[in-house]
Amino acid sequence: MSLLIKNGQIVTASERYVADIFCEDETITRIDQNLSAPRGTEVIDATGKLIFPGFIDPHVHIYLPFMGTFAKDTHETASKAALVGGTTTFIEMICPAKTDDPMAAFELWLGKAQGQSACDFTFHMGVTRFDSAAEHQFTEIVKRGVSSFKVFLAYKGAFSVSDEELYQTLRLAKKLGVITTAHCENADLVLELQKKLLGEKKTGPEWHHQSRPPRVEAEGVHHLLTFAEMLEAHVYIVHLSCHEALREAAVGKYRGVNVWVETLIQYLLLNKAHAELPNFEGAKFVMSPPLRDQRNQTVLWNGLREGLISTLATDHAPFDFGTQKIMGKDDFTKIPNGIPSLEDRVNLFYTYGVKRGRVDLHRFVDAASTQAARLFGLFPRKGAIQLGSDADLVVYDPVYRGIISVKTQMINVDYNPFEGMTIEGRPHVVTVRGQVAVREGKFVGQPGRGRFLQREPGHF
Ligand SMILES: [Zn+2]
Repeated sequence: MSLLIKNGQIVTASERYVADIFCEDETITRIDQNLSAPRGTEVIDATGKLIFPGFIDPHVHIYLPFMGTFAKDTHETASKAALVGGTTTFIEMICPAKTDDPMAAFELWLGKAQGQSACDFTFHMGVTRFDSAAEHQFTEIVKRGVSSFKVFLAYKGAFSVSDEELYQTLRLAKKLGVITTAHCENADLVLELQKKLLGEKKTGPEWHHQSRPPRVEAEGVHHLLTFAEMLEAHVYIVHLSCHEALREAAVGKYRGVNVWVETLIQYLLLNKAHAELPNFEGAKFVMSPPLRDQRNQTVLWNGLREGLISTLATDHAPFDFGTQKIMGKDDFTKIPNGIPSLEDRVNLFYTYGVKRGRVDLHRFVDAASTQAARLFGLFPRKGAIQLGSDADLVVYDPVYRGIISVKTQMINVDYNPFEGMTIEGRPHVVTVRGQVAVREGKFVGQPGRGRFLQREPGHF
């Protein structure tokens, strides 16, 4: 099976030019002018379109037992939604309970995705407990191709690690040559502030962000970077939300800590006023770290533009408003945390980033694809348009106009946090390893074809 994409404008993190792309089997084998198609080749006319490398979402939750319930998407629904939105690879968090065996958790998550996901996938291995038995299993999991860890400084009593466990995790990560991703909020401060607010009968979703103010996140970042510095470990701050936390990351970077930063599309386009909507509506916008004061958005956009923030992710975690968010009706600490965004990330970033002049096209590709590939050991197989790369391509229509709505979304949840927002562009055709998976907003690919991407450690 071969595929020829003609006359498109190829845009990568560093280049922009018009050429034809020829793909054989699963990879890109020729990039040149005026290529002709051998018999049996599928030809796609990309005149007037932009061609990006497949986008990578480095932080999603699909199978997620959390706060007494489960996130709504399956790997089938999530991967179709991802593809329709231009994301051809996602990195899912494996989040074991403290009592779970890490290897059993890895097998469970892998089993959920394999044969179900239509797009390629890999994982960050959640470290929620560290002892010698767990250490042995983490070493085995890295050998199986998962070359990144995830730690939570937040969620006391559930996922959070102690300082000793954090130290041991970073020590092992350094030894194995893997990067550790981290949720940075001080778990004890959150717990005490929650107790204080609930004690004052402040129970609605509008109090959620007051229980996790910016300094609580900044403290988490500072804490992580102190440990990373002692161990010369490589760390990646997931879902950084505010100016105070970014300052701590920048200070760490300038003193030589090996740190990278991720932010989310939610923080760029939504703010704490959404979480303060009346009649419990705010619960749709409860996640952690919380949506912030709008003034932070300029700082995050500028951080992305300048590269202080490397990647743009989603932390996709869909919970139905009607049956799941409602669990926290009388207590905001029981609202399942998460704002779904896997499907809309790329189109929103393009519209409100590129089209509004906040980031250029190259930084857009870099932050939404190439940086994640580089940091997590997928480059140049993913995140690039070059000979030998996987033929994951997004033929993007910059003329399309549409409106985001729960009525037309592919993700499996009963609301859309970006309801009513305009998008100015969308994927026209999306390919996964040389096969067309999306045409004109419709999934036309092969369910379950997605592959587990094994990643080598030691690329730092
Ligand atoms: Zn997450």
